[in-house]
Amino acid sequence: MSETSFRLPTNVTPVHYDLTLRTDLKSLTFDGSASIELEVHEDSSTIAFNAHDGLVLGDVTVIGAAQRCHRAMVSERANERVTLSLDPPLPAESKALVNLNYSSQLRTNMGYHYSSYESDGQTVFYTATESAPIYARAVFPCMDEPSLKATFAIHMISRIGTVNLSNMPVESEELCGSVNTKSGVLMGAYSFLLAKLRLGGGSGLSGGSSGDAWKITNFKTSPKMSTYLVAFANGPFEFIESSYKSPISGMVRPLRIYATPDIIQQTQWALDVTTRVVPLYEKMFDIEFPLPKLDTVIASNYLGAAENWGLITGRASDYLLDPSRADISSRKAIAAIQTHEVAHQWFGDVVTMEWWDNLWLNEGFATIMGDMAFSYRNLLSMNNRIEPDWNVYAEFGAKQQSAALALDARKSSHPIEVAIEDPNMIGQIFDSLSYSKGGSVMRMLSAYLGEEAFLKGVSVYLKKHLFGNTVTNDLWDGISEATGRPIQDIMDNWIRKAGLLLTGYPMITVSESSGGIHVRQDRFLLHGAADEADNETIWQIPLSITASGDDQASAVHRDFLMIDREIFIELDVEKPYKLNGGNTGFYRAAVIAAELGLQPSVFVLEDRIGFLSDSLALAQASYSKTSDFLKFVHLFRHDKEYLGWRQMTNGLVEVSSLFWEDKGVQNGLQAFQASLFSPLVKRLGYDNDDSDDPDIIQLRTLAITQAANAGVIEVIHELQRRYAAFSSGEQGAISPDLLLPTFKTVVQHGGLKEWEAMKNIFRGPSTPNASAAALNAMASTRDPNLIEKTLAFLKSDVFGQDLYRFWKALRDNPFARRIVAKHFFQNFDHIASKYDGDVNIFSRVLAVSTSRFNSKFGAVDFVALLKATFDRFCTKADIEEVEAFFKERDTRVYSLALAQTLEIIQINIRWRAESLEDVETWLTKWRLSEGV
Ligand SMILES: [Zn+2]
Repeated sequence: MSETSFRLPTNVTPVHYDLTLRTDLKSLTFDGSASIELEVHEDSSTIAFNAHDGLVLGDVTVIGAAQRCHRAMVSERANERVTLSLDPPLPAESKALVNLNYSSQLRTNMGYHYSSYESDGQTVFYTATESAPIYARAVFPCMDEPSLKATFAIHMISRIGTVNLSNMPVESEELCGSVNTKSGVLMGAYSFLLAKLRLGGGSGLSGGSSGDAWKITNFKTSPKMSTYLVAFANGPFEFIESSYKSPISGMVRPLRIYATPDIIQQTQWALDVTTRVVPLYEKMFDIEFPLPKLDTVIASNYLGAAENWGLITGRASDYLLDPSRADISSRKAIAAIQTHEVAHQWFGDVVTMEWWDNLWLNEGFATIMGDMAFSYRNLLSMNNRIEPDWNVYAEFGAKQQSAALALDARKSSHPIEVAIEDPNMIGQIFDSLSYSKGGSVMRMLSAYLGEEAFLKGVSVYLKKHLFGNTVTNDLWDGISEATGRPIQDIMDNWIRKAGLLLTGYPMITVSESSGGIHVRQDRFLLHGAADEADNETIWQIPLSITASGDDQASAVHRDFLMIDREIFIELDVEKPYKLNGGNTGFYRAAVIAAELGLQPSVFVLEDRIGFLSDSLALAQASYSKTSDFLKFVHLFRHDKEYLGWRQMTNGLVEVSSLFWEDKGVQNGLQAFQASLFSPLVKRLGYDNDDSDDPDIIQLRTLAITQAANAGVIEVIHELQRRYAAFSSGEQGAISPDLLLPTFKTVVQHGGLKEWEAMKNIFRGPSTPNASAAALNAMASTRDPNLIEKTLAFLKSDVFGQDLYRFWKALRDNPFARRIVAKHFFQNFDHIASKYDGDVNIFSRVLAVSTSRFNSKFGAVDFVALLKATFDRFCTKADIEEVEAFFKERDTRVYSLALAQTLEIIQINIRWRAESLEDVETWLTKWRLSEGV
């Protein structure tokens, strides 16, 4: 199927929607009336728009110029598209009004769907929309493409006692009995709905018993916006409120979080983040927040978070924080999501991508913006960062950039900007790469230009396209205008090449000579050296170099733009230096052996992270030895910072996973790990102090977790002791930051009793933090019987997001890995069916794609599950078994994931064969020198 067959014809375009929506929380239905004003560009005997199959369409009328009625008949309805045939046709250069009535069930997910909570033994329902990218058509008939922007006047009818929410603030609200005061278009829209109310025993029209009295809420008309951003919510919501004063106009705007009464007291942190970040973005973009208010509504069965303009929607488990039991990682996660969604209010909502092929632009940008708002230290003029101590910017390099570098070094990777052609491909393409590589290349550009210049360019771009739609080059043009540099030339090969979409990234190798270094670029592939056909691209590389000055303090230079295959740079090679200084470049820098003797104190955190990350990847691709990575860990063992330690830990987990079935290496690595983390635990202890900064708290959690993993007996006993106190009712015995390692430890060293206790915590009412910890603990059991029990529990009791989380936790457990793979083969059809929705693949996979945390159910989840099941396998027999299993199956929906999985197993096989002896030898030497 070609791309164009998804697209609507362009003979007419929408200008304005007048929408009236009645929500009935008793019957779990809704009905609506839509009046759509169109501009007619050519003589038209047909009009096409989108409507989901779930919308039952009623009367349709089309009114042309001079109030002329055109007879309208639905002539075709397929693929979520409705075509009206008109008689007589509408003339070119005229206007028309389409009036439609419709009704629908409230859905269980996507579109306009319901959630519920328990109150005094009663189930209470409420609703919210979840429309991005193509579910607005399940809420109201519309021309559902991001570039078909229009203004929206929205009216919501609901029972008295509930709250109606939409993108814009309320203009007026009245009992339905008093609608006679209305006139014109609105009256027409009402009459259909009011007739329904009367037919349905409309005693409530003029009041009546409060349960059946109805009200109408009229919202102010919105600016021009895309359909996927239109939002509705209705229910017994409460709110907490703050406000901010615009640094641009001085206007004060209200900021609210809405939620049901049972959870509203856990939303303060999300409100705090919003209150701090909105004025910061105004300054960063130099554009005032364009709407009169910004609300966020929290729903329990929401699938992710969405950036609806003026009404962000988010899933309870991603937004709630019990203030008395708050851990740092939950605070960080909530802040990451909310700053991302608020960034979209400008980048995405004011200015929107032309079509979904440019989704990476939206998502990459919002991802990086949230991080900038946190802590980037270079922007002195904005000292009001949210949590500078969190070091989020360095964390991006350690986490998102590392993930994208790992995926994009495979031949089975894909470009971040993609043509949408085969619908089977879409869900596979919008994986973490679109978000992480997109964010990484923008971060590289920002570091190269300087953050102020980069943001200036973003501001130029946004101002030029206010309320409009754009493609990638529009952003590059804006930044070029602000900086005078040819941004498109610099960025093109990171995204595409000569019109063709491009994957991959370069590796920099260095040879020293007197007075400087020769630097060369080649494509980096995990297979080892790229052959000629794979190595044609020359990237324009912002080549930052950290070089130490005379006073031994390190300084970062960012002046080089490498535009050729090879260059020479003057440098004092007698002093320590590092390429990709600051770790902001999206490439690998070869580590030269001399650096293994360096003084770690010369290099800042980002550079230490870069050394660790690059040395491991280069070993994986057989450019260097795996023991070089271990040497770096040994060298950095006195690191003071959490992120440095986390990078070491992540690398050790990778190495340990490669040798997960090699007993001797496992034992050696465990001893090495114990020697690293045991002293840290002794120094930091188990209890957080009020004066501890976030870095110390996170380092303490990491050290305790890793010491317990490495089998340090004192640590295991201490966690068991604290759990015993916790179980007998002493809630404070386990700090919220230690729930996960404590739960895992007691299950790993316990039995059925502990496992059952975790099941109860997972199921029972608990904080999202405790529930996630319990889930991970269940999956971490080392007892084969309990592993089978966990799998049976998965099969019967776990759905959606949790299913994938369980699966991934089981994958991370070497004791479960083979059992899980066997289970996957044996239950393949059942597992696949759990992911099979009722909608076509195109919409299903596109739907899951817009979440930053894209493990919703649907094809993307299945893809992730497939990869997670096998990507630690490292023998020839494994690859043969996987290939044989999928040989006879229709793998179109996950062909890319399967290719990536087979590729990573192949890489594992070679890496393990090449490094087994090297790692064994290094560990033996280390043991001898340490006397362990
Ligand atoms: Zn987003």
